[in-house]
Amino acid sequence: MTKIRVRFAPSPTGPLHIGGIRTALYNYLFAKKYNGTFVLRIEDTDQVRYVPGAETYIIDSLRWFGLLPDEGPEFGGQVGPYRQSERKDIYREYADLLVSRGHAYYAFDTPEELESMRESNPTFKYDNKSRNTLKNSLTLPAATVESLMEKNDDVAIRLQMPVDQVISFDDEIRGHVSFDTNELDDKVILKGDGMPTYHLANIVDDHLMQISHVIRGEEWLSSTAHHVFMYACMDWTPPAFAHLPLILKPTGKGKLSKRDGAKFGFPVFPLSWDSDHEEDNFTGFREDGFLPEALINFLVLLGWSPGNDQELFTLSELCEAFSLEKIVKSGARFDIEKAKWFNQHYIIQSDNLKLAYLIQNKVIAAGYHVTVEYIADVCGLMKERVHKTDEILDNARFFFEPPGTYDDNTISKKYKPEYSFHLKSMAESLMICPENEIEATIKGYIAEKSLKAGDIMSLLRIAVSGSMQGPDLIQSITLIGNNECASRIIRAADYFEKSVS
Ligand code: GLU
Repeated sequence: MTKIRVRFAPSPTGPLHIGGIRTALYNYLFAKKYNGTFVLRIEDTDQVRYVPGAETYIIDSLRWFGLLPDEGPEFGGQVGPYRQSERKDIYREYADLLVSRGHAYYAFDTPEELESMRESNPTFKYDNKSRNTLKNSLTLPAATVESLMEKNDDVAIRLQMPVDQVISFDDEIRGHVSFDTNELDDKVILKGDGMPTYHLANIVDDHLMQISHVIRGEEWLSSTAHHVFMYACMDWTPPAFAHLPLILKPTGKGKLSKRDGAKFGFPVFPLSWDSDHEEDNFTGFREDGFLPEALINFLVLLGWSPGNDQELFTLSELCEAFSLEKIVKSGARFDIEKAKWFNQHYIIQSDNLKLAYLIQNKVIAAGYHVTVEYIADVCGLMKERVHKTDEILDNARFFFEPPGTYDDNTISKKYKPEYSFHLKSMAESLMICPENEIEATIKGYIAEKSLKAGDIMSLLRIAVSGSMQGPDLIQSITLIGNNECASRIIRAADYFEKSVS
């Protein structure tokens, strides 16, 4: 069997969209399942769209998810360099080979000329019909071509798509796919500045890096026809292709875009991204309180199904279960509620101390000086009640400071004038009772004075936390400390008295 080698080949044009992570994930899983190699290749030949920091962002994101490449920039490997800008000199030879074999030609049209053609004809395509009327080595006399080549160092090479042919290939997901060459344009493969375009660099590198399977987004399907054509012209065996279904917006038509995060109120990038333009700043899933293992589980099911009811998978289970055959053709709708459901599951499964380290900076930034062990105990009490880690602090401020407001609605329903005295006496007993007798002290007092337990427990909860929501009251009091809670109860009793009278 051929050695499985797959690659994730993002362009560093900005932060990596969550759809890109799914592509990386599927490549990673496919490699691991077959003991293959997962390569990271940075496709940075388009200098105009290059964004500094994007490559670091891509690598940091892969690290956060634990999808570590076996080969790539920063990871090493035998077939590098893994940044296309560092491979610039490799590509010309192959572009020249295509020209010499009659599958590509020199094009002399200036960007301005092409632009004005597009302006006068919006459907203009440089293809096997229009090329006969344009300035290139197919239409101009050999002597003119030679002199243009000599004085011009800005000559592009274009692929010469054949006339009236069908290019087909078998896609692992979409089955047999065919393209009519009359519909395909003569793509530029080498630009005037000597840089290859995506198409040439992509196939040359997939060949030289011995890639066995190209697993990428559906938007590259029509380019694959050009790629298959180039493989044939080079006499190379193409890799297998698998084009992944789109990730769709939560509602309506179209694929999930980077602006949808702001529109629907959830992240679409793994990590936060800061840029000079405010509209291009994005909060990441990590900073929003998601765990990478939850997102992996969520993402893998956006387009793949195990064929049974199992929904929860660890990364190593996925390495076993994953297969290209179970990837669906239709687009998968992005459902943030499902992502939160997975996140809640993984938060509950997480070790309390791990959660504490995740939110520790936020706790410190909020001005609370507590030990990480204390935060871990708070996480232990709160984790069943949140969907995102940052909600632990947001919903549990009372573990760090006395409540600033009280639930007046419940107070007005539960409070009776004699309760102020009882709450204060109970607080006094709490102050001197040992930690393991908090429950007995409270319940004993209620029984002894024949008070209505429902009323008193509600008022105690409000005194300690400000609201009716929260984890077990006795456990909360134990963690906050009986002394601190006693003073909260005394203060609240005064408030209740004033607010109801
Ligand atoms: N550089 C392309 C991208 O940014 C890669 C497409 C491919 O995997 O061939 O998505």
